[in-house]
Amino acid sequence: MDFKLSKTHLLMQEMFRKFAETEIKPLAEDMDEAEEYSPELLAKLQRYGFFGIPYSREYGGVGSDTLAYTLAMEEVSKVDASTGITLSVHSSLCCYGLDSYGTEDQKRKWLTPLIDGSKFGCFGLTEPNAGSDAAGQQTKAVLSEDGSEYIINGTKIFTTNSGFADTCLLFAMTDKSLGNKGITAFAVDLHSEGVSVGKNIRRMGIRAASNCEVAYENVHVPVENRIGKEGQGFKIAMQCLDAGRIGIAAQSVGIAQGALNEAIKYIKERKQFNKRISSFQNSQFKCAELQTMIDAARLLTWRAAVAKDNREPISSHAAMAKLFASDVANKVTRDCVQLMGGYGFSREYPVERAMRDAKITEIYEGTSEVMKMVIAGGMKVK
Ligand SMILES: Cc1cc2nc3c(=O)[nH]c(=O)nc-3n(C[C@H](O)[C@H](O)[C@H](O)COP(=O)(O)OP(=O)(O)OC[C@H]3O[C@@H](n4cnc5c(N)ncnc54)[C@H](O)[C@@H]3O)c2cc1C
Repeated sequence: MDFKLSKTHLLMQEMFRKFAETEIKPLAEDMDEAEEYSPELLAKLQRYGFFGIPYSREYGGVGSDTLAYTLAMEEVSKVDASTGITLSVHSSLCCYGLDSYGTEDQKRKWLTPLIDGSKFGCFGLTEPNAGSDAAGQQTKAVLSEDGSEYIINGTKIFTTNSGFADTCLLFAMTDKSLGNKGITAFAVDLHSEGVSVGKNIRRMGIRAASNCEVAYENVHVPVENRIGKEGQGFKIAMQCLDAGRIGIAAQSVGIAQGALNEAIKYIKERKQFNKRISSFQNSQFKCAELQTMIDAARLLTWRAAVAKDNREPISSHAAMAKLFASDVANKVTRDCVQLMGGYGFSREYPVERAMRDAKITEIYEGTSEVMKMVIAGGMKVK
């Protein structure tokens, strides 16, 4: 067992950190205020290869691994959690499903432009009436009489990246009588006739990310766009979410570490009672507790990432990492605001944004309650 990052991973971590500090951090507050992501920044992230980190060079990726991807997720989320989720949904939900279940032709057509950075991806599973219970899909895909295409009708909600995405890994019912075994996955061109993307849903946190309702009305999808077999969609969605949860755990670690770094900088300068706030033992103990929690969350995240790279089962590891790290992100950011007092609460410092951003990590890609179901399922507690 080795808890140290390799030289290559350390170099990548340093590169991600520099990029985040110089390119993302200066824009993060304005993007949050505007509730809009900067198209220039998106283009830069594409140019620097952020969207294809764990994917093969053969398809235009960086050819690295999940561990490197978690390092990128942590570094970008330290300064801006909206960048974290933009990257995560594209990479570990949309691309991962296409990479794992696409045929060679499908990968060339759909995956390559997503990981070489020429297109953006999103993931359409959640519906207004199917959230935690994703098997309750109402979106339907009906095969045409000649068997050449599916006609898709339905509405998805909270589709991250949908405001600018080109491709959606979409899930729809092909046979409702089969329950979750009747769900099928499709690669859908979001510029197709019948697709309408609604307004950005106004939110408490990760406000710069794009997150819209997407309606599909008689959308004709060629049969060759089906990913995997008919009825395999639920399995594909769950595997994508297992992978995605590692990214959300890393995002949580990043949010927490970013907030703690800011708080420490502040308390080393701020004086009350003629003493720096950092000189009070209460502040030192608090920082020690928070850093210990963050390190534990990071180790769980890396364990899940390394298990995925070693092709071991990851459901429980990923769920534990997300459950723990998202809780840590919420506790740490709340305590960092407290350490900084009124200034922490003010929008002059990025810690209040981190506290707002942290909440969603306990909800998306499976709530904390759903994570406990996954973990208990793996333990065979029932
Ligand atoms: C900002 C944002 C981005 C998102 N991005 C995407 C995306 O890109 N693609 C996508 O498909 N989805 C996305 N989602 C959807 C997200 O994954 C769901 O919101 C999440 O899975 C929870 O579903 P729900 O909101 O319908 O809550 P519900 O399922 O209605 O749950 C409400 C509460 O009940 C609890 N609960 C539900 N069932 C049980 C149970 N059996 N036992 C105990 N407690 C239970 C939940 O834990 C939760 O606390 C996003 C959501 C948000 C807010």
